[in-house]
Amino acid sequence: MATLEIKDLHASVETDEGAKEILKGVNLTIKSGETHAIMGPNGSGKSTLSYAIAGHPKYRVTSGEVLLDGENVLEMSVDERARAGLFLAMQYPVEVPGVSMSNFLRTAVTAVRGEAPKLRHWVKEVKEEMNKLEISQEFAERSVNEGFSGGEKKRHEILQLSLLKPKFAILDETDSGLDVDALRVVSEGVNEYKASSEVGVMLITHYTRILRHITPDFVHVFAGGKIVESGGKELADELEENGYVKYVGKAEPAA
Ligand code: ADP
Ligand code: MG
Ligand code: MG
Repeated sequence: MATLEIKDLHASVETDEGAKEILKGVNLTIKSGETHAIMGPNGSGKSTLSYAIAGHPKYRVTSGEVLLDGENVLEMSVDERARAGLFLAMQYPVEVPGVSMSNFLRTAVTAVRGEAPKLRHWVKEVKEEMNKLEISQEFAERSVNEGFSGGEKKRHEILQLSLLKPKFAILDETDSGLDVDALRVVSEGVNEYKASSEVGVMLITHYTRILRHITPDFVHVFAGGKIVESGGKELADELEENGYVKYVGKAEPAA
């Protein structure tokens, strides 16, 4: 049983006009086995929350705490966060020319597990996971994220998730850019990992559609840089019906 605690988190982003405060006191506790959906309008700071926890250099935590089983995550390097059991899908979003997916994943898994997986087992393990996610074997030889479509990037994220086996996974807009079939495959990948482990999931999303595939235990409305309401999965149905109007005081502009 593990616990991820976010306490009164404040964070700013560096912009050309200077630091701008985005997170204004986020409080959230996630325990092993729980799935928490974070839902909110565009620009409310959801991605900033995930970047702040990931230790992205552009986002500065100005006060508050993030604790994993009482350990201060904010003092850890990005690698240490991964070793501690945190998975942040955007940790490795960059293109890495010349490094194949297969080598990249092996390096990442070695860093997290503390030893290199035996090559024969590794090839088999990756193959199995890729088959489940309906990723073609040719993908393993391609350079990391180079020329990946939105759907391929998301499948890659879930492939990483299933290989790295984290205690906590923060998935930001995992549903964006996915067609119906890709959404199903990615959701099944997440559900399978949830079923095989005691992972705690923070599922950040603007839309309710992914929640038809991945059932949250808790739903939190995120607006203006903090959580403004929390409830069960029925809260997502209410948001589907009424949008975020009530929380931002005005209708969102049509997309
Ligand atoms: P969400 O993920 O909820 O759409 P974000 O965290 O991406 O929200 O953004 C929150 C606010 O912070 C927005 O007003 C956005 O313009 C601003 N912001 C985020 N990242 C940056 C950045 N790198 N530079 C400037 N402004 C940013
Ligand atoms: Mg956004
Ligand atoms: Mg975002």
